[in-house]
Amino acid sequence: PARPVFAGQLPAGLQTISNIIAVSSCKGGVGKSTVAVNLAYTLAGMGARVGIFDADVYGPSLPTMVSPENRLLEMNPEKRSIIPTEYLGVKLVSFGFAGQGRAIMRGPMVSGVINQLLTTTEWGELDYLVIDMPPGTGDIQLTLCQVVPLTAAVIVTTPQKLAFIDVAKGVRMFSKLKVPCVAVVENMCHFDADGKRYYPFGRGSGSQVVQQFGIPHLFDLPIRPTLSASGDSGMPEVVADPLGEIAQTFQNLGVCV
Ligand code: ADP
Repeated sequence: PARPVFAGQLPAGLQTISNIIAVSSCKGGVGKSTVAVNLAYTLAGMGARVGIFDADVYGPSLPTMVSPENRLLEMNPEKRSIIPTEYLGVKLVSFGFAGQGRAIMRGPMVSGVINQLLTTTEWGELDYLVIDMPPGTGDIQLTLCQVVPLTAAVIVTTPQKLAFIDVAKGVRMFSKLKVPCVAVVENMCHFDADGKRYYPFGRGSGSQVVQQFGIPHLFDLPIRPTLSASGDSGMPEVVADPLGEIAQTFQNLGVCV
């Protein structure tokens, strides 16, 4: 999709990036970071130059999900800029690589830290920057969306009926900001055991989302022990098993962002 018209002045650090994709969810623990990381590595696997910005200051997941040799961001003292760390060719910035403990900060301060990390980074030429958004649709998320000219948003949710309301909130936030929601990822949809498929959270709310909000794409991700294990091991699933079913789903998602 074409980048929406951006009212503010484009921060210098973001001028060399072609597409900025927000991966968002309305609550924690639904698999947003899992989707952000695997989407980024899928795009990289398709030949794109990619970066990941982990904007979850309170609970950064990126340091667990990837394993770069250098686990600390470096500073360029002359330019007063941040040099991202890198793992398997993808550039990475996370508060978890800033060498500080868990953050205790108020909202406006968090927004300041996020904006500084994001806009003073030397990203270089990138085809895609994937932003792992903080969960929710509050002030921090809004500020971030106003600073950054987003190309598209992907919303991650789980199949419960209740989650439907969360998706609606997310869609509303992005539509107010004129950012197209290109896909919803319904995570932890089903699992297979004893030759049978189980839907622990029910079925059908995904297709309801597509109809009601006119979101062009819906992707299902199953509950998979390998997805959880790869999240903990620092090797994204799509890198560990590039021909598997999960990798296939992410390739389709990659095509639509
Ligand atoms: P969020 O970013 O929304 O808080 P995470 O991506 O960190 O969620 O996922 C929360 C936990 O659930 C992680 O340990 C992750 O590995 C695991 N997880 C996420 N999606 C799946 C899945 N489809 N199958 C198995 N485990 C998953």
